[in-house]
Amino acid sequence: MTTEKLYSHFLKNPSISTDTRNITPGCIFFALKGDNFNANAFAAQALEKGASFVVIDEDKYALNNQCLFVDDVLTALQDLARHHRKQLSIPVVGLTGSNGKTTSKELVNAVLAERYNTFATFGNLNNHIGVPLSILSISDDVQIAVIEMGANHQKEIELLCTIAQPTHGIITNVGMAHLDGFGGFEGVKKGKAELYAYLKETHGYIFINRDNPYLLEMSAAAGLNKLIYYGTENGNTIKGSLKSSDPFIEVEWTNHDVYSSAKTHLTGSYNFENILAAICIGDFFDMSPEEINNGLTNYQPKNNRSQLTKTEKNTVICDFYNANPSSMSAALNNISTLSAAKKTAILGDMFELGPESDEQHKLIAKQASESGLDEIIFIGKYFFVFKDELKALFFETPAEAANYLQQNPIENNLVLLKGSRGMKLESLLQYL
Ligand code: ATP
Ligand code: MG
Repeated sequence: MTTEKLYSHFLKNPSISTDTRNITPGCIFFALKGDNFNANAFAAQALEKGASFVVIDEDKYALNNQCLFVDDVLTALQDLARHHRKQLSIPVVGLTGSNGKTTSKELVNAVLAERYNTFATFGNLNNHIGVPLSILSISDDVQIAVIEMGANHQKEIELLCTIAQPTHGIITNVGMAHLDGFGGFEGVKKGKAELYAYLKETHGYIFINRDNPYLLEMSAAAGLNKLIYYGTENGNTIKGSLKSSDPFIEVEWTNHDVYSSAKTHLTGSYNFENILAAICIGDFFDMSPEEINNGLTNYQPKNNRSQLTKTEKNTVICDFYNANPSSMSAALNNISTLSAAKKTAILGDMFELGPESDEQHKLIAKQASESGLDEIIFIGKYFFVFKDELKALFFETPAEAANYLQQNPIENNLVLLKGSRGMKLESLLQYL
């Protein structure tokens, strides 16, 4: 009942807000709660600023009949998104994985947008709040939507699937990310496979990287049959090879009979699989090689993921949006293959690794010190414990590293700057 009432209002003014700083006239304001906030207390402010309805779950904040009281505001938001999704009879590509979700989502969208009116998740809005907000942003003229789904514990992808109701899906890869919440690597596989289970149940299509044995194992376990393969071997619908990755990725690819190649503005050889995924999805949706290649070539990363930036002093691989052991390892492999007179890695701690944290930091520290780089700077307390074991510079905080860099400037280097989001390594870019 509540959902229908809200939906009839939403149809008249399809605008949602969860933050009183971003109220648009006539929107529905959802008063969400978090660990450190309770937006119920902002209901009156939301109405003053022009919201036409506020959805609350504490009745003491109910002021008038513009306040809709529900059991749980988050559930009401998710139910509204579910309902909206049902009204849209369009393909939705659901995308999850340990690494490369946002990059793949951007690439898939860049490709599909060459032919279709598309919608893709804004930025990284990929969780239990972001996915419903994304779904509620899809207007009725959209032809295909690409929805990023993130998770750090079991049953999260299952829930997000009930909201986004993907008709097509892709797990980019499974790796050492969010080990704490998932309960180790086996837990990561189980959690991500919830997308496969949903698509099996609903007879959806799955795009799968045949070079990835974990994904093959997970798809076999799920008993999937509507599979479209991409990879480097013969027999895949899309077969690709990495033509160049120094510094930008160039790929060659075929869909059985047609041979093609594309240049991109992405750095990092690990992006090869993200690019193949986008080619495979574009091809599936009947796009020509020219359209696909245009989409890939026109995509310019601007989000601090795999972004090559020339500063006054250095060339910096800005990859400081996030980090986990898998992406850190891939980034180190990548810089060691790039040509440059001198190379430096500035690596920040990796979070959310639970009991495996020490071991994983040790492995990365060891890999970095064996990567043939000219200098390595570790930042953060997790790396710091290895300071007597390795020949490298160690700082406990980015501020200490900033101080060092101001006094000992790095010049004419190729610099990799990467760490977990919480390390905020972007603060160091001004010194490079
Ligand atoms: P999040 O969990 O924060 O949403 P994500 O899965 O969306 O992350 P991206 O933001 O696309 O991932 O990329 C984050 C970083 O992961 C990149 O900057 C790069 O270092 C690394 N990365 C991207 N693609 C891959 C890949 N296919 N394999 C390994 N690492 C990758
Ligand atoms: Mg992301």
